Amino acid sequence: MNYYNIVIIGSILEPLSYQSTNNINLFSVVDVELRGKLVQGIVIEQIDKPKYICLDIQNITKEYFTPVMIECANFIKNYYFSSLGEAIALFYPHVDMPLVETNHQYIAINLSDAQQKVINFVLKNRQSLIFGDTGSGKTEIYIKLIKQNIKNGKSAIMLLPEISLTPQMSKRLKIVFGDEVAIWHSKITKKKKKEILQKIASKQIKLIAGARSALFLPFNNLGLIIVDEEHDDSYKASSKPRINAKDIAIYYAKILDAKLVLGSATPLCSTYHKIPTIRLKGTYFNSQKEYIYENSNNNLSPFIIEQISLTLQQRQQIIIFVPTRANFKSISCLECAESIKCPYCSVSMSLHKGDSILKCHYCNFTTPIPLYCEKCKCENLTSQRIGTAEVAEQLQVIFHKNNIKRFDSDEIKNTKELRSRLNEFDNKKIDILVGTQMISKGHDYHNVGLSVIIGIDNILHIPDYRSNEKALSTLVQVAGRTGRANRGKILIQSNNINFFKSYIDDYESFIKDELIFRDNLYPPFSKLCRVLFAHNNANKAQEQMNQFLLNLQQFNNIEIIGYGESAINKIANKYRYNILLRSHQVKALLNAINQSKTSLAQIDMDPINFN
Ligand SMILES: [Zn+2]
Ligand SMILES: [Zn+2]
Repeated sequence: MNYYNIVIIGSILEPLSYQSTNNINLFSVVDVELRGKLVQGIVIEQIDKPKYICLDIQNITKEYFTPVMIECANFIKNYYFSSLGEAIALFYPHVDMPLVETNHQYIAINLSDAQQKVINFVLKNRQSLIFGDTGSGKTEIYIKLIKQNIKNGKSAIMLLPEISLTPQMSKRLKIVFGDEVAIWHSKITKKKKKEILQKIASKQIKLIAGARSALFLPFNNLGLIIVDEEHDDSYKASSKPRINAKDIAIYYAKILDAKLVLGSATPLCSTYHKIPTIRLKGTYFNSQKEYIYENSNNNLSPFIIEQISLTLQQRQQIIIFVPTRANFKSISCLECAESIKCPYCSVSMSLHKGDSILKCHYCNFTTPIPLYCEKCKCENLTSQRIGTAEVAEQLQVIFHKNNIKRFDSDEIKNTKELRSRLNEFDNKKIDILVGTQMISKGHDYHNVGLSVIIGIDNILHIPDYRSNEKALSTLVQVAGRTGRANRGKILIQSNNINFFKSYIDDYESFIKDELIFRDNLYPPFSKLCRVLFAHNNANKAQEQMNQFLLNLQQFNNIEIIGYGESAINKIANKYRYNILLRSHQVKALLNAINQSKTSLAQIDMDPINFN
C-alpha cells in the first residue's frame, strides 16, 4: 500500500492523507472522499504509513499540473496568505480534456523604426516595460514578438483587462494567428473552455489572449508572457486569494525562464521603477490634441454645454467621463447637513431618478426617495456629486434632437451590451456617450471631436497614496482614446488645473516626481499590507484587531502605519476594522503576519483598496 498527502482543490484545508495500491505520480489529479462526498485533489507528496487509518484514493483521473505550476501556487499561498488548495484552484479550470491538430500561415506586418527599436530592446532583456503612448502601435509589437516566439516552438500568453478583450482585438489576432489563438475570459462557455484546453494540450493553440485567469492555463512550453495595460487595477483580485496577476506574471515568467513584456501608456510608478523600460512615443497616428481647462468641479457648466454644442455643429462625436454613476452620489439635508445613509453600510446612498430610488452601491439596498430629512424632518434636501445618469438627462433636455447614451455598469451589464453600445457609437448612431472609468478602457473612438472630463478631482482626493497617479492616469487614458485621426479637443474641469497641466503631456516626468515623493514611504520603496477584520458584532471585530496588534509587538522591522475603524466602517451589516502595515523587508513582514494571524484576519498584500 502507498500513502499520499493530497491537497483538495479549492479547499482551505491542510493536505490530507489517503492510501492507494497504485503507484501514483506526483501532481496527479485524483478523486477522494471527504465528509462523504467525492472531491478532486492533487497528490503533492508520498509519505510513510500514518498512525491513523486512511481512506482509499478512488480514481486517478489525469496528470495535469506541472512542477512549475505547483511552485507558483506555493508562492501565491505564502505571499497572499491563501491555502494551497485555493492557490492550486487558480490553475484548474475544472473541465475534462483529451486531444486534436493543424497548422497556420502568418501574414507579414511592417514595423516603424521606433517599433523595431522596441523589439530589439525586448529581445535583449528578460523583462521589459513598453512605455508606449496610446496609438503608438504596441499591439503590432506584441504580434511580432508572439510570432517570433511561436517560430521558436514556444507558446505565449497575452493578458489584457477583461474590458479590453474587444471584438476588434480578437479579430485582429485571429487574422494573424488563425486557429493558433484563443480568447479566454470568465464569460466563455464550459464547452468552449474544454475545447481550448484540448487544443492547448495538443499544442494546436499557441497563443491565449485573455483576462486574469488565462495566466493559469496549462501550457507546457511557455516562452512569452505579455501583460498589456499593466497599470489596470483589474489585475488585482478583490477576493481570496487576493493576487495581483501582473505580479504573478512577473514571478511566473522568472521561474519558467520565459520572457516578460509589460505594456502601458501610463505605467505604474512601481513598475517603471522595477522593470527595464523602453519609451515609445505616439507618433503613429500623428494626432493633434488641444487641452482646454475649466476651473470648477462636478458640474455641467455653461462652458461645457457651449463646447458640446460647437462640436455637434461640426458633426463630431463627444465622450464625457464622469467617475460617478447614478444621478447623484448622495443627497443630504440643507438644515442639519446629514446625508442619507444606507442602514446596512456606513456610506451615502446614491440617487437613481429613473427608478425613483436611493441605492447603496456597496450592498445594493434600495429605498424610495425620501421627501424630508429623517433627522430634523425638514424638506430642504439637496444632492451632491453629479453622476453619469444626471449628465445624460440634463444634456438630453438641451440637445433633445441628439442621441445621448450612457456607458456605465448600470447600463452595461454584460459583454454583449458592451459590444453593441460601442458598435452603435462607432457607427455614429450615438452623438454623446457619457461614461465612468469604463469609457477610458480598451476602446478607441475615431470620430470624437471633444472629450469632456468632469469630476476628476474626486479621484484626486481619494485618501490613497496612489490618488495622484490614478487621477492623472485616468485623464491620460481618456485623452488617449480620442482624436486619433483628426484634431481633438479635451476639456478638463478641475480645481487642480496646475497639477494636470504640468503632467498631461509628459507622464514620464510625473512618474519621476512621484517616485521622489514616495521615496522610502510607499511602494515601490516599501511593502504595504492591509489586514481587515469584519464581523456582525463590532466588538468581536475590534477584539480580533487588538489581538493581532498585540501579537505583532514581538516583531521588528515592521511599522504599523495605522489601525482602527476602516474608512467605511460598516458594509452589509458587518463592522470593519483594519490595520495598515509597512515594511522594507518582505520576509520580515510575511513572517510577522503569519505568526500574528487571528481567525477573522483578511490579509491583503499590496492593497489597492483602502476603504
Ligand atoms: Zn435634516
Ligand atoms: Zn448598503
